[in-house]
Amino acid sequence: MKAHQKINAIGKLAKNTFYGKKLIESHAQHESRVKELSSSLQDREDKKIKRRRLLGPSEFWGEYWRQQEALLVADQGSSNSMHTFVLQYDQGYRKFIVAHPEIYWLVDESRPKEERCSYEVIPDGSPCHLYFDLEFTKDLNPTSDGSKMTKTLIDVFCAYFLEHWGFPCRRSDVLSLDSTTDVKFSRHLVFHVKNVMFKNNKHTGRFVKAICSSIRQSLLVDNTKRSSADNILSHFPRGDLAELFVNTMKGKQLFVDEGVYTRNRHFRIYKSTKLGKNSHLTVSDDSEYILNSTHKNKELGLFLDSLISYLPSTKNLILLEYQDKNSIDAIKYSKECLSQRQVCVRTEKKTESPYPEIDKFILDIVKPGKIREVKVMNDDILLYTFTDHRYCANIGRPHKSNGVYWIVDLHSQVAFQKCYDYDCTGFKSVPRKLPEKICFELDKETDILLSSIPDTQYCSSRQTDNVVILEDDADSELANIDLPASIT
Ligand SMILES: [Zn+2]
Repeated sequence: MKAHQKINAIGKLAKNTFYGKKLIESHAQHESRVKELSSSLQDREDKKIKRRRLLGPSEFWGEYWRQQEALLVADQGSSNSMHTFVLQYDQGYRKFIVAHPEIYWLVDESRPKEERCSYEVIPDGSPCHLYFDLEFTKDLNPTSDGSKMTKTLIDVFCAYFLEHWGFPCRRSDVLSLDSTTDVKFSRHLVFHVKNVMFKNNKHTGRFVKAICSSIRQSLLVDNTKRSSADNILSHFPRGDLAELFVNTMKGKQLFVDEGVYTRNRHFRIYKSTKLGKNSHLTVSDDSEYILNSTHKNKELGLFLDSLISYLPSTKNLILLEYQDKNSIDAIKYSKECLSQRQVCVRTEKKTESPYPEIDKFILDIVKPGKIREVKVMNDDILLYTFTDHRYCANIGRPHKSNGVYWIVDLHSQVAFQKCYDYDCTGFKSVPRKLPEKICFELDKETDILLSSIPDTQYCSSRQTDNVVILEDDADSELANIDLPASIT
C-alpha cells in the first residue's frame, strides 16, 4: 500500500478506534520519552550546558511533523549551523528535528541502541560532500570482496577528483561506514576533502553518474583501445573494474546506488540502524580515514565528519560544480552562488503574502514590529517572521536573542505563535480565529484553494492527528516523501 493510501485509510478511522488510539498513545509515549530524555540529559550535563550556552553551539531543539517547516527553520538558523534530522520511531512514525549537530549527537548518543534510527536531511541546494551508498546481496555474489571493491572505487574517484579539479584526495580522506549483515554488504562513504564540497547534490549526482557510466563504457571496449577511451580508467586493471559489478535481480550492475542524489535526500547517520534491523552504521574495519574535526570526543568528531551537508565554517570553502565532462568548475563559496532555491529563500524575501488583510491582522498583533519575511507553504500555511518583535506568549515577555514566528492556517482559519527559543520547544500559543471578514473571503476562495492541493496533502494534513506513516522500508523510500501533517 502506498503511503498516501495508508494515510487515507487511517484518516477514515475515528479517533477512538483501536488503531487511532494506538497511534495517539504511541505518539504520546514518544513525546514523554523525548521530554524525559531531554530533562535527564539537562540534569546530568547541567554545568557543561551552562558553559556551552556561553561558548558553544546553540541549544535550540525544534521538532516538526512537516519536512518543509523543519527545513525553513534550519535555513533561518543556518548561521548557527542548524541542521535537519529525521528521527524514525515505532512502527514507522517519524519526526523532523532541527538542532545543532553537536546537540543532536548528545541526545542521540543517550538513546537506547535500538532506538537510534536517525537520518540526516541533505537539503536541496545545500553544499555537500561526495557521498556513496554501496550495496550488494551476499547470496547472489558469494565471491565478491566488498572491501577490495570499495578500495578500488575510492581510488577511481580520487583520481577523477584530482584530474577534474586539481585537489588531491586520498583514502585517508574517505570515511567508510559499514552496516553489513549476513545477508547484505552495505557501506556509506563520505569524501572529506579539506575546504572542498560540492555545490549541491545535483552536481554530486551528475559527477557520480558520469564516472559510473565511464566505468561501464571502459569495459565494453577491448583492451588495446582502453587508453584512448578514458585516460584515467586505463590506469586501473580491467579485472578490478569488472569486480565492481554485482549480480542483482535485474542483472549485472555496479554496486553503487546511483539513486541517492535526489532532492532533500535522507541519509542514515553514524551509529544509526534502520528501524528493527539492528545493523548500526559503524566505522568499517578497513577504513583508512584520518579524523578531520578536532573534537576531543572522538565519537562526536566521527559523527560530525560523517554528515554529508554540515558546514562548520564557510571560510575558504570551495564549491565544486559538475554539469558534464566538458563543463567542470570550482568556485569560491558565497551565498549568492548557491542554488536557485537558496537564492530565492535568502535574497528574495517576501514581506507580503498574497493576503493583504491577513498581513494587516498579523501586523496589528506584533505592532510596532514589522514583517521580516512571510513564506507560503503548501498553499495553505503562512509563516511570518519579524523584525523588532520578540514577544513570546510562553514566557510572557520578549526574548533577548531568539525570535518568534506566527503561523496562519488558512484551512482552519486560525493564527498562533511559535518560538525559535530552545526553552520554548513545542510551545504553541492559544490559536486566534481570523477576523470574520477574512474568513468570508477565504471561504469564497476555498474551492479554488483546495482544488490546487493534491489529495494526499489534504488528507494527511487534516485527518491523521499528526501521524505520518512510512512505507515499510527503506532509505530509498524515505527520500522524497514529504507528507505534511498538522503543525503542532
Ligand atoms: Zn519563546
